[in-house]
Amino acid sequence: MNIVLLGFPGSGKGTQAKILSDKFSLAHISTGDIFREAISAKTSIGREVSGYLSAGRLVPDNLVLEVIKAKLATETRGVLFDGFPRTVDQAQGLDDYFASRGQGIDAVLFLDVDEEAVVARLGSRRTCPKCQKIYNLLSSPPAKADLCDSCGGPLLLREDDKPEVIRRRISVYKDQTEPLAAYYKGLGNFYPVKGGPGPEAVAVE
Ligand code: ADP
Ligand code: ZN
Repeated sequence: MNIVLLGFPGSGKGTQAKILSDKFSLAHISTGDIFREAISAKTSIGREVSGYLSAGRLVPDNLVLEVIKAKLATETRGVLFDGFPRTVDQAQGLDDYFASRGQGIDAVLFLDVDEEAVVARLGSRRTCPKCQKIYNLLSSPPAKADLCDSCGGPLLLREDDKPEVIRRRISVYKDQTEPLAAYYKGLGNFYPVKGGPGPEAVAVE
């Protein structure tokens, strides 16, 4: 089973992806997490992508597809994609890759939340750079202020969760990622899921 999670920045994709991949024993592939890990490990990919992430712009499609194919080549489980694909070209690249191996995408889940809710959520998001756990100061704060419940590390506001970069990410999403909904609707495997009040409420549906 291969699943794509689609949704606005801040729609709760990362949180849902963790819940769903555990529940269905899927490999959770988050291109955002892969890039952030590469940046903190100072690899050559990290150096190539860091400017795009801090500006809230998309990493070029060929580089993204290269990273994804390298991951998939060694993956034997079904996959849950989180934050990928983000352009129609990436989606076509993924379809071609899967087709060449007799595989495909079984479902595209679209997390449908409204834009206002998303902007508020991103500003109060904090992440643990060490273990990638995600918190929200309003709806799911850590037990001790600014410290990760799981590993005790200090929590950070992602550089791209600052207001000016949030606005850029939203406009990039509308221009380049929103057309994916039509692409996948045309393929007949598109399922909108209404964003609920909290993460568990959404995951149960
Ligand atoms: P969000 O969905 O909240 O914006 P992500 O962690 O998915 O956060 O992505 C963070 C950043 O990483 C993006 O703004 C972009 O710069 C880069 N990125 C992640 N995935 C992709 C992708 N599939 N294509 C291009 N850039 C990507
Ligand atoms: Zn942690």
